[in-house]
Amino acid sequence: MKIFDVIIIGAGAAGLMCAIESGKRGRKTLVIESSKDVAQKIRISGGGRCNFTNLNITPDNFLSQNSHFAISALKRFSQNHFIKLVEKHNISYHEKTLGQLFCDISSKEIIKMLLDECKENNVEILTETKVLDVKKDSDEFVLSAENQDFKATSLVIATGGLSIPKMGASDFGYKIAKNFGLKIINPTPALVPLTLSEKDLEKTKELSGVSAKVSVKVGSRAFKESLLFTHKGLSGPAILQISSYLQQGQKLSINFAPEIDIFTLLKNEKTTKPKQEIKSVLTNILPKSLVSYFLEKNNINGFLADLSDKNLKIIAQEINNFEIIPNGTEGFAKAEVTLGGVDCNEISSKTFETNKVKNLYFIGEVLDVTGHLGGYNFQWAWSSGFCAGQFT
Ligand SMILES: Cc1cc2nc3c(=O)[nH]c(=O)nc-3n(C[C@H](O)[C@H](O)[C@H](O)COP(=O)(O)OP(=O)(O)OC[C@H]3O[C@@H](n4cnc5c(N)ncnc54)[C@H](O)[C@@H]3O)c2cc1C
Repeated sequence: MKIFDVIIIGAGAAGLMCAIESGKRGRKTLVIESSKDVAQKIRISGGGRCNFTNLNITPDNFLSQNSHFAISALKRFSQNHFIKLVEKHNISYHEKTLGQLFCDISSKEIIKMLLDECKENNVEILTETKVLDVKKDSDEFVLSAENQDFKATSLVIATGGLSIPKMGASDFGYKIAKNFGLKIINPTPALVPLTLSEKDLEKTKELSGVSAKVSVKVGSRAFKESLLFTHKGLSGPAILQISSYLQQGQKLSINFAPEIDIFTLLKNEKTTKPKQEIKSVLTNILPKSLVSYFLEKNNINGFLADLSDKNLKIIAQEINNFEIIPNGTEGFAKAEVTLGGVDCNEISSKTFETNKVKNLYFIGEVLDVTGHLGGYNFQWAWSSGFCAGQFT
């Protein structure tokens, strides 16, 4: 039986960050990872360039049933602390858009940085080792893996969420939480493409591949980014963002021209240039196929002069307030993250230790904290991992 001060299950962003900090404090630390390689999600993230944080981190960028939980950790280890670490390792980066920071060259640089820091702080990492069971034996945790057992005083669960099962995602963290009597907020796919019914797909099939800058809204929450029509439904950053807020059966409102009041524009054009075709006016604003879709759907076409205000209003309504009810999502296979997880009310927001079981910690995506698209989920992994690492 191998004995450690701290064992961390999961060598993802949160687990490795926690290991570095535990190691720095002189704690004999082991990270156990079921996959062949560590940090697989970092490697594939941001199209291979890892959107590792965001310049603008606010509590409003995170969803949780306990909306105050994440605030303290995000302050104690902020985006600026992580940026400093990236700079210390001479990794060049750039802001792509909306404060999102990406590596100039490759996400592998972030993985190397984490592994170098682990090595410097004497952290041991064991890959291709799946932890199957955990028991608490008086003051120690006993872990059973496929061929060996381990003991530790402190145990950190950093097993992530359920997205992308083929990359090692498992419900192991939730099982451990349940076994120790902790509550789970039902995990569902988030930052995920939405699917449409057969009937709606039949109507929108010509639009597959078309993208537009939109504002998409559900309830009082709106995102202004790109939308992409797919052969299964809707995707693109605006849709991924809103997917975290959309409940099954809820209506989405899409504004395809968020900066323009289309009815006012069409009325003005009708007065000033009545011989223009409605199609030409709209193709200055929207992709041609989208314009054809709206006009054909409503059987409206021709010169502005020949169109009634009622018809202009119908088209304006379609463009400025298009409503659709998605019938589901593309699921965990395509989701970037998991909404829900271990209930944060069970966890100390200072130490990340569970309230019920001494020396048992949960960090990263396994917790009920979900970031917006744009580097927020990695920042949560860094912040929660760093903070737990001060106490393990
Ligand atoms: C395609 C994609 C792109 C993304 N891009 C970005 C991005 O650019 N920016 C951003 O902020 N976020 C991004 N995310 C989200 C981000 O990757 C995650 O939120 C983050 O990796 C979570 O870190 P974690 O350490 O909590 O969990 P994970 O990274 O999921 O790590 C958990 C680890 O635990 C291991 N494990 C699970 N069960 C066991 C077990 N029983 N025994 C041993 N090991 C186990 C898993 O194999 C895994 O390696 C992306 C996600 C995906 C899927």
